[in-house]
Amino acid sequence: MRLLTFLFITAIGPAIGNINADTLKPTESEALKYPPSLLPGNYNPAITTPSSVLGFPVGSRTSTTDQIVEIITKIASESERVSLTEYARSHEDRPLYYLVISSPENLARIPEVKADLARLADPRGLSEAEGNTIIDRLPAVAWFGHSIHGNEASGSDSALISIYHLAASLDEDVVSMLEKEIVIIDPCMNPDGRTRFMKIMEEARGVAPNVDDQSRLHTQSWPKGRYNHYLFDLNRDYIHGAHPETRGKVAAMNEWYPQLVIDAHEQGAQSNYHFSPSRQPINFNGPPQHEKWNEVFAKDQASAFDQRGWPYFNGQNYDDLYPGYTNYSKYRGAVNILYEQPGIDEDGVRRPDGSILTYKESVHHHLTSTLANLYTLAEHSAELYRDFLADRRLVTSESGPYGNRTFVVLPTRNESRMLSFVRTMKMQGFEMFTAEGDIEVASVTTQLGKNLSNMTIPRGSIVLPNRQPEARLLSAMLEFDTPFTDGMMLEERESLLRGEGSMMYEDTAWNTTMLHGLEAWTVNAHIDQNLVHYQEAVVDSGLKDVDGSIGYIINGDDDRSVGFAARAMESGISVRVLQRATRLDGNDWPRGSIVVSRNDHRTYDGDLAADIGRLADELGLSIQGFAHGTAPGDLPDVGGRYFTRLVPPSIAFVSNGKVNPLDLGAMWHVMDTHLGIRHSQLVWKGLAKFDLRRYNVIVLPDSWEPEISDAALTRLSTWVKNGGTLIANGGSAAALSAVGRKFTSARHISDTFENPGKYDLALQREWLALQKTIPDDSQIWSNVVPQDVTYPWNSESKSPGKDALKKLDDWQKIFMPKGAVLAARTDQKHWLTMGIGKQLPVLYRRPTVLMSDGSADVPVRFGVLSRIGQERWDQMQEENEGKKSARKIGWSTLPDQYEMNLRMSGLVWPEAAQRLVNTAYVTRERKGNGQIILFAYSPVFRGSTPGTGRLLLNALIYGPGLGTSQAIIL
Ligand SMILES: [Zn+2]
Repeated sequence: MRLLTFLFITAIGPAIGNINADTLKPTESEALKYPPSLLPGNYNPAITTPSSVLGFPVGSRTSTTDQIVEIITKIASESERVSLTEYARSHEDRPLYYLVISSPENLARIPEVKADLARLADPRGLSEAEGNTIIDRLPAVAWFGHSIHGNEASGSDSALISIYHLAASLDEDVVSMLEKEIVIIDPCMNPDGRTRFMKIMEEARGVAPNVDDQSRLHTQSWPKGRYNHYLFDLNRDYIHGAHPETRGKVAAMNEWYPQLVIDAHEQGAQSNYHFSPSRQPINFNGPPQHEKWNEVFAKDQASAFDQRGWPYFNGQNYDDLYPGYTNYSKYRGAVNILYEQPGIDEDGVRRPDGSILTYKESVHHHLTSTLANLYTLAEHSAELYRDFLADRRLVTSESGPYGNRTFVVLPTRNESRMLSFVRTMKMQGFEMFTAEGDIEVASVTTQLGKNLSNMTIPRGSIVLPNRQPEARLLSAMLEFDTPFTDGMMLEERESLLRGEGSMMYEDTAWNTTMLHGLEAWTVNAHIDQNLVHYQEAVVDSGLKDVDGSIGYIINGDDDRSVGFAARAMESGISVRVLQRATRLDGNDWPRGSIVVSRNDHRTYDGDLAADIGRLADELGLSIQGFAHGTAPGDLPDVGGRYFTRLVPPSIAFVSNGKVNPLDLGAMWHVMDTHLGIRHSQLVWKGLAKFDLRRYNVIVLPDSWEPEISDAALTRLSTWVKNGGTLIANGGSAAALSAVGRKFTSARHISDTFENPGKYDLALQREWLALQKTIPDDSQIWSNVVPQDVTYPWNSESKSPGKDALKKLDDWQKIFMPKGAVLAARTDQKHWLTMGIGKQLPVLYRRPTVLMSDGSADVPVRFGVLSRIGQERWDQMQEENEGKKSARKIGWSTLPDQYEMNLRMSGLVWPEAAQRLVNTAYVTRERKGNGQIILFAYSPVFRGSTPGTGRLLLNALIYGPGLGTSQAIIL
């Protein structure tokens, strides 16, 4: 292999040239392009050169993850200017490192530096003079993160050069710069992704350079190196912390309060170099001085590029609304800069002007940016610290923008859900309290945007005053809505109307409480009374047995109960699920509670109590023994129909092909982290030939133009009818519900206009059932057939005709949300909603809009009803000239005296709200002995949506037992 490598380099060497980064000694013409003070000069010969490890000059090819580790480990052991820290291990057990590079004197006082930084970050009680003293003695701190997307390789290779340069240069300017600066470099933020990328590229290499960016070497095969092991985009994870790579990085960055945070990426191969500032929309929670500093850094960076005649741009393409990129550091006070280099992938790429942009040049671009930014920082560090301190004083003061606001999360019986939320908050170092007793407040705003007066915050609520050092990030994560500028709204609307698509680069909503499905309030006051610092409760887990126990039960409101059921069944223990709330031995149990009955284990040859006790302990759950099978009154008894025995799931996910890797990855992550049971991943093409009888649950993740052949569909159909549970998300759900496939009765909204009344009637049935009203006694018991019977269509409004509905739909779909949180109502008698309250915030992204005519259940539907007060209702009637209940939204009729709430967070244009309201988020339909469950959008997203994620857990683990008929095996 080594021989081939040499042949390869020899072959491509002359064609694309080499960068001799060994010495970074530029040619004469090159030398002129560096800022004079950073001219490479003499290097310490005791420091290993990257190319001596690589076997080729840096930038002539791509370095592997192992090579990067070898180089930085060597340099760290040789240089007195470098300290190396392993901050995390990836899922594939690769180490992640950051290097702290500075003068030996600065390295010797790191604890003092960190203490000073922390003091500035929380200046409560810090005098003006003390602040100035600290600023005077603090070195600048910069943080460079490279190649978080594993297939955007040039960042890491440029890091090898900058690390070597800073560690080994004997040049006076470098030496004196390191006296003033601490440079932290994370050379490889996604080692698992880079390793996948390198493997794919290795397989695509030939002997001649490949400069066609449409060729396999450049396009990569599914699922590409961009993602980490679980196919997550790590550059969206900073506010969720779903992965060890992120958690380690956030913990490290939060200790350092870097003044400058660089995130080096690649974009389309035919583009030019991009660096911050970003374009609108920009999140208002960023520090006001950020834009000013972005401009200062950009000016110097632009000038470094101008000197070399390199094209670049900024203020385009990338907005800065979503706070979960590396830009999360901005809310903590850093100047955040995004580098986007044309993606070259080794060899080089032919450009429209006939030239070849080489990988070496792409590495050089990042390097030049790095050096330029370091210089700017050295010059402005003290001023940046002064701005930082001033802003920290502002946000911790009563008169600051966050001085009088508090976020409150109401208590829940879902302990693991709450724990997930508080750990997300703790990861960011937010100050968090528990309400010691009830707290009276004048008014609160609910997640549905309602203002309620004279409310009581119940004891046990989690309280996060926004007036605190990390106020900006806290607000960005917990405020219910993130506003845009008026100008941005006009531009977005114009872009949609012109058919140029949304200008939003990312979702417009990500609120942590909503995605967790936790009820929260915003209180417009600073709360500091009746609080204790939040302490994670010690879980009283394991088995609580009683004398003569006939069974054991676990609270079904806790998400981990599903994990218990899954693991218990995996280890051969029989499990039942409670379908209606009941009371056993004086304890109340919600529906969804998990029961292990002794009677089901007459032939069990282990120690049942010990086995389930151990499982509960592992999951941090308490499992309660009970001695009597009878419940008071009509409540379900243990031997009745509501204690349903579950069928062990055997789960397969469909993979590869047109599957959206992010959706597959998110579900795989839930399987491994939440359930911990076996599953299979089948390539899509296998659906038409594999033996599907091995599985009783098959999941089709979201997909683009899904490849469901007729043969695959026929086999799936037979498999469902024989008792399978088929789950499909987003694009796959849309494909299955297409009219022509005749697979399910669920339909995409655009296919429902032939008979819209059918869908409206299904809706009215749901509403009337919920209202629990019956016709008047005099009518029911009358022996004469009554003349005036109320029917749901007793409305004066007529349904618009097919053509009108289609026209409306064509118009409405122009405005569909790019990613927003919508309010949904749930069917509290449906097994899919066990562990979920009446209202569920749902993260929704276009384009799938599902409808049911009543043949498929709709356990979760968009829109929450709220009653209109009598006074306002009368007024509305008056305005409507007495036309009673003549109220329709598209195909659906609104019940009298109710209105629909839909938008919870993010940009939802009114047209889209009208299109989405009353449509199904989830449908579940019986087919033969099996069932089909469709999600309009992925229920698990970025490991950040435990609220809707519970629906998926229920579907996966309870589906075979609750929605299907299984054969009795004789
Ligand atoms: Zn990227």
